[in-house]
Amino acid sequence: MTDNGQGFPDTRSVVAALRPSYPVYCLRPEILEQNARRFISQFPGTVLYAVKCNPHDLVLEALYRGGIRHFCESFEEAKAYFMHPVKARAVIKSAYAVYGIRHFVVDHENELAKVLDETGGEGVVIVVRLATPPDEGTLYHLADKFGAPPDAAAELLREADRRGCRTGLAFHVGSQCPNPKAYRAALNVVGDVIEAVGQDPACVDVGGGFPAEYRNRPMPPLEDYIDQIRAGLKDIKLKPAVEVFAEPGRVLAAPGCSLLTQIQLRKGDQLYINDGIYGSLSEPSQVGIELPARLIRLDDPPATETRAFTLNGPTCDSLDVLPKSFALPDDAREGDWIEIDQLGAYSNALSTRFNGFYPETFVEVHDLPPAAAT
Ligand SMILES: *Cc1c(COP(=O)(O)O)cnc(C)c1O
Repeated sequence: MTDNGQGFPDTRSVVAALRPSYPVYCLRPEILEQNARRFISQFPGTVLYAVKCNPHDLVLEALYRGGIRHFCESFEEAKAYFMHPVKARAVIKSAYAVYGIRHFVVDHENELAKVLDETGGEGVVIVVRLATPPDEGTLYHLADKFGAPPDAAAELLREADRRGCRTGLAFHVGSQCPNPKAYRAALNVVGDVIEAVGQDPACVDVGGGFPAEYRNRPMPPLEDYIDQIRAGLKDIKLKPAVEVFAEPGRVLAAPGCSLLTQIQLRKGDQLYINDGIYGSLSEPSQVGIELPARLIRLDDPPATETRAFTLNGPTCDSLDVLPKSFALPDDAREGDWIEIDQLGAYSNALSTRFNGFYPETFVEVHDLPPAAAT
């Protein structure tokens, strides 16, 4: 559900108009557009948005207006690239035959065999996903689950080549990667594999992992990541004919949406709100992200003194509590709204319907939220 395409000048007007007792996602299309433009203008290659991070139509439309033309990830969303290393056979088949997808990621010989079986291999680009070395501080180290070691990757490339496919190499350093050098290190492994195979791939994909700005984790600027990628591409003397891709998700989407929740009960420094870990707040609860938040009240101004509150979610589950406290006005009370910022990534994408709660209202807001206003 959205407003009629008009949007609101700021979150306070959303509150005044809707007085919502349900959670509302406040989408900032201008910020999404601006993020897309910024990434595209800096990245030396083609930018694919990782749709799984936030698949909402309004997000895709805003990123499209910002210049994103390529989208990757799971099946029904895929417009061009299939970057998941494990795919159902039927899905591979229709991705190829119905949706015209030609890039398929694999990280194991059995997956390569599936892709070749289901597509016949004609016109297919086999992109081999490499395991990256562990990097401290990243939120998720994806190499525990996905990625071929260099020797196996070289063998997969040789086999794909023997079967008449074009080839590529990809990696993902892990989401919310705190260390720009991780990209250069991974590109050096890419270089080793290319050297071992003795043939240039059609593409090299540096994946996602570019961080958003959360309160408790100051991150290097995007420029540092791009510098390291340029340095890595230079180290391995990648030929200009090789296409370079990135698949950012979080860095584009996180600042583009906040969440408006309402306080339903206060018990001391415990606040009970209408969204929680089974809804929009599962990721921050799992990995300890600290999000900026502010109180909105329509009548009298809230107290200037703050205190640390614990936010409890709406379900009957005792796990449904946010682990990090939130500094909010001392006199926060039932009926006040709390706007939680930086929630454009892995929020609505991860919501469940547990206990009958399912946040699904989106409105467009045309201000810059406090954390993004620079
Ligand atoms: C999730 C994912 C991404 C996006 O990762 P972010 O950390 O959000 O940038 C990119 N590529 C693949 C294959 C993914 O699974």
